[in-house]
Amino acid sequence: MKNYENRIKFYFDSVLGLFYPNNCPGCGAPLVAGEKYICSHCITDLPYTYFKNTRKNIVSELLLGRFNLENASSLCYFIKSGRLQKLLHNLKYNNRPEIGQELGIYLGNELKKSNSDDFDVIVPVPLHFKKLKIRGYNQSEEIAKGIKTAIDKPIDTSSIERVIYTETQTKKNKIQRWNNVKNIFEIKSPENLENKHILIVDDVITTGATLEALASKIQTVNNTKISVASIAIAKK
Ligand SMILES: [Zn+2]
Repeated sequence: MKNYENRIKFYFDSVLGLFYPNNCPGCGAPLVAGEKYICSHCITDLPYTYFKNTRKNIVSELLLGRFNLENASSLCYFIKSGRLQKLLHNLKYNNRPEIGQELGIYLGNELKKSNSDDFDVIVPVPLHFKKLKIRGYNQSEEIAKGIKTAIDKPIDTSSIERVIYTETQTKKNKIQRWNNVKNIFEIKSPENLENKHILIVDDVITTGATLEALASKIQTVNNTKISVASIAIAKK
């Protein structure tokens, strides 16, 4: 009888879990009171960059000379097969936008602490509408919502459009990547960006080619300044 009850409970929890995920998407542990979507163990253990405490900033080093950059930040280093990879995978492919919002709040708090919060508007890296339709949300926009919770600045998702659908870049070399992305963005409403300091938000920075493509389009608009913030940057 006990076994039967356990099995019923198991199925009930599994079905409920589909609607109210109550396990941490980073490590699988059950969430406890006070934890929102990510358990406190995973939050403490993330591979933070602590850029604000160090003079070495690999995001600005990566983007140096490619466009005019005010501030560059990344909350964490991207480490393969770690907790963060699981969180980001769930954010991107398992319909868990709230992970982006929670990580975005931590990123926003870091921007505040390092005095990198003097931007006017947040622009998440746009997704192509086809990809948006498949995924249901733009993961960078979810991160932007978290930043907005920490730093009350508007999010602009309509002034720039991703007009070309690109396949995955992982098998391409640097020049192929650039040729693949350089014209994927189009400015639709330059008047919304004019005279503004724009914070571009991305989930993971790898080569920086997408950011460079977006930033170089934005910089065709009169008197714009650009900063960049991401959840993770690939460590070379
Ligand atoms: Zn966890």
